[in-house]
Amino acid sequence: MGEHAVLVVGGGPTGMMLAGELALAGVDAAIVERRASQDLPGSRAGGLHARTIEVLDQRGIADRFLAEGQVAQVAGFARVPFDISDFPTRHPYGLGLWQSHIERILAGWVDELAVPVHREREVTGFAQDDDGVDVCLSDGQSLRAEYLVGCDGGRSLVRKQAGIEFPGWDATTSALIAEAETTEEPELGTRQDARGLHGLGRVEYEIRDGEVVFADHGPVRVMVTEEHVGSRSEPTLRDLSEALIGVYGTDYGIHSPTWISRFTDMTRQAATYRRARVLLAGDAAHVHSPVGGQGLNTGVQDAVNLGWKLAQVVRGVAPDSLLDTYHDERHPVAARVLRTTMAQVALMRPGDARLDALRDTVSDLLSMDEPRARYAAMMSGLDIHYDLGEGHPLLGRRMPDLDLVTVDGPLRTYTLLHEARPVLLDLGETGSVDAGAWADRVRLVRGRYAGAWELPVLGNVAAPAAVLVRPDGHVAWVGDGTDAGLEEALTRWCGPATSARRRP
Ligand SMILES: Cc1cc2nc3c(=O)[nH]c(=O)nc-3n(C[C@H](O)[C@H](O)[C@H](O)COP(=O)(O)OP(=O)(O)OC[C@H]3O[C@@H](n4cnc5c(N)ncnc54)[C@H](O)[C@@H]3O)c2cc1C
Repeated sequence: MGEHAVLVVGGGPTGMMLAGELALAGVDAAIVERRASQDLPGSRAGGLHARTIEVLDQRGIADRFLAEGQVAQVAGFARVPFDISDFPTRHPYGLGLWQSHIERILAGWVDELAVPVHREREVTGFAQDDDGVDVCLSDGQSLRAEYLVGCDGGRSLVRKQAGIEFPGWDATTSALIAEAETTEEPELGTRQDARGLHGLGRVEYEIRDGEVVFADHGPVRVMVTEEHVGSRSEPTLRDLSEALIGVYGTDYGIHSPTWISRFTDMTRQAATYRRARVLLAGDAAHVHSPVGGQGLNTGVQDAVNLGWKLAQVVRGVAPDSLLDTYHDERHPVAARVLRTTMAQVALMRPGDARLDALRDTVSDLLSMDEPRARYAAMMSGLDIHYDLGEGHPLLGRRMPDLDLVTVDGPLRTYTLLHEARPVLLDLGETGSVDAGAWADRVRLVRGRYAGAWELPVLGNVAAPAAVLVRPDGHVAWVGDGTDAGLEEALTRWCGPATSARRRP
């Protein structure tokens, strides 16, 4: 029986990000993935929001994604577009990049970190005891791990086997999505009718002056809302053709599909993200309509919240209770995503003059600066605030990527996070803070920063004298010139000073 400290079930975006985080922290993690390779038959998610780009920047890999995608203003709410170019971030935009490319780039990173991937094997069951989890694979083999994380998508076997409830709402709308060739030139762009929203575009596109410009030729990406909800059969080319004819009066001679799938607005969230040694992340923990492009982004950020916590628990430096903060912090984030996607689906529902009026009203509201800023910060993930108690506005929020001056020269805050270790940043005059007994776990950096401390939506906040930044980039403690509260924060997030480490 093979053994790993952590077994990640599913090598989609969430599983890959999590495995990378664990590997960076020196933890023996492996992925079990049923797919033979990272290739995705279809393009699926359309890109990344600003906070996810920041998160990747914190690990030094954002450039890999930026080099391949289309930087654009992608955030929006119920088709009201937002411009976040005025936001205080190094990435005041989103990135158009198909999930197939996102996964390929993440897989390359995970490969560099030497994470073993057990491919073409499916987890078929598991049993947990006080010390670990025995995991059964489809090839008859088994693996044992201290912790098991289900990153196995919306139909998660891990969630079901762990007996975790998945309450929520059934679908009210359903759409076919496909990539195929056409013999006739299709009507590119979106169309709204009594059935709902439809869209045709080429898989290859560029963004020029903020506008999507499709390639002249190549496969077409089809999204067509179905007349009825609830079909359980695998969609076929015939279904696609009929749906197109129903909306456009022609199927444009559609043929040679490489991918036909269906998505709905089913909205559900795991009641708990943890059952003892089994955890859930990504679509395994939350599913909802793709409107607003939140799913992949939320999953990747789940992984970044969980990775360093699980690593510290596995390495024996922090108590197992640290893992409960994963649910406490991330469940509300996805609950909000569920709420906003449901609101958007409702607003975009066709065929009622009253809904048209409501849509216009919301659109008016969102054109005002403060509502725009609040909603844009929410949709781009830049406003995420974990409840770490009362205090300075930075507490629980993302650390801005500042240009610091240190004894070693200029340095960006996010560069300090590349190793996924906690950072104690001393910005005071006197060097009054110290990592003390945590010096082996926390990187102390003394530097200067003369600029403004500006947060999205909140604006300028008082400059702190020191900050403790968690590996996920969230601020865990803010110093006022003394070290009051620092030991407590270090104990809470980095484990007790005296804890015996099980592993080096
Ligand atoms: C049409 C569409 C458009 C979308 N657009 C966006 C967007 O613009 N932005 C956005 O953020 N999100 C978007 N999403 C959502 C996004 O695709 C998902 O949220 C994302 O793929 C979730 O990643 P994941 O890793 O959690 O799960 P998945 O991508 O589902 O990965 C799960 C992995 O687990 C593997 N697996 C499953 N069961 C087992 C098992 N028992 N054993 C071993 N392996 C297993 C699967 O093969 C798969 O590789 C969109 C989704 C759709 C359908």
